[in-house]
Amino acid sequence: MGLSKTIWANPSELLRAQKPENPVMFFAPTVLQATARRFIAGFPGLVTYAVKSNPDEMVVQNLVAAGIRGFDVASPWEIDMIRRLAPTAALHYNNPVRARAEIAHAVAANVKSWSVDSHSELTKLIEMVPAAGCEISVRYKLPVAGAAYNFGAKFGATVEVAAELLAKVAEAGFVPSLTFHPGTQCTDPMAWDAYIRAGAEICAQAGVKAARLNVGGGFPSHRLNEVVPQLEATFALIDRVATEAFGADRPALICEPGRGLVADSFTLATKVKALRDDAHVFINDGVYGALTELPMIGVIDRTEVISTEGVKRDAPRRERIVFGPTCDSVDRLPGELALPGDLQEGDYLVFHGMGAYSTATNTRFNGFGDVLLATTLSLR
Ligand SMILES: *Cc1c(COP(=O)(O)O)cnc(C)c1O
Repeated sequence: MGLSKTIWANPSELLRAQKPENPVMFFAPTVLQATARRFIAGFPGLVTYAVKSNPDEMVVQNLVAAGIRGFDVASPWEIDMIRRLAPTAALHYNNPVRARAEIAHAVAANVKSWSVDSHSELTKLIEMVPAAGCEISVRYKLPVAGAAYNFGAKFGATVEVAAELLAKVAEAGFVPSLTFHPGTQCTDPMAWDAYIRAGAEICAQAGVKAARLNVGGGFPSHRLNEVVPQLEATFALIDRVATEAFGADRPALICEPGRGLVADSFTLATKVKALRDDAHVFINDGVYGALTELPMIGVIDRTEVISTEGVKRDAPRRERIVFGPTCDSVDRLPGELALPGDLQEGDYLVFHGMGAYSTATNTRFNGFGDVLLATTLSLR
């Protein structure tokens, strides 16, 4: 990605002045810092950031500036990057499957918190990681709905296996903890209710008091105009249910949002390359670019169309099929998008809430994907 050194008041200003031919990702540090402070003020425990959702160094630096002191890392690359940018931050290595070389790398980097979801991976950790002062969190899963897709499909032990693992962690002299992930873009807070109560059940079965409970990422960002995330209500539910479920043995809480922290601080401007026979809209970014996630978790309807003069189109909206720039027929946004009826070739189609799993998963397929990164004071 190219980096624009100038700071713009808002996306329209850059679009009017520069009329960029490539997609532009606008980053508003003030929005990111405000979101981080909202989590820190509202969440009843330690707030950490899941680096994979957007590993841009500007993101990490602004999170540190806002007071984030812990990071969920999943690879040696992420470990080294955070050690460099935030040398004193806590690293939580919460990818529960690791090669032995990756474990050795993390031990050398002084990682003190790990997660595990299987006997075989726990055996590796017990062999390779010095136990003193080191935490191992057992990752468990439940068959609960509420998220955009099910994270339990890949990681997480059943309640029964989690209890065995937790007992083994304690026995081996590690600090025993628990962790789960309710699934990304989880708009139903009751998923946390079920998971937290299951955590107490695991402790009871294992006969172990958990030091900490990591309630995951999964906090939703604002993707649909009609569905405004209720972060504070979710924090309050987590707080209440943790006390109800664990009583006097309530563990310290951690969360590790990726999307919920970073998504709303980025806006993507794409250019309308063509309005084919007044029907289909072709834009210069798509599912192989920053819009990768849309076919998996649904469309973002927080859109605006801005003319090359920087004026917002405001005719009544009409449903359109939107295609990305590559020659692959799957390069299409899901369903149809309601876009202003006066949309024209050359306009910019702008998507808000684009900070998570966008730049991180952008490819250069078919020679597209050259995204400019620009900093703005605001996103509107
Ligand atoms: C991806 C991931 C997260 C972040 O998930 P979001 O849905 O982006 O909040 C947190 N923890 C773990 C272990 C993850 O793999």
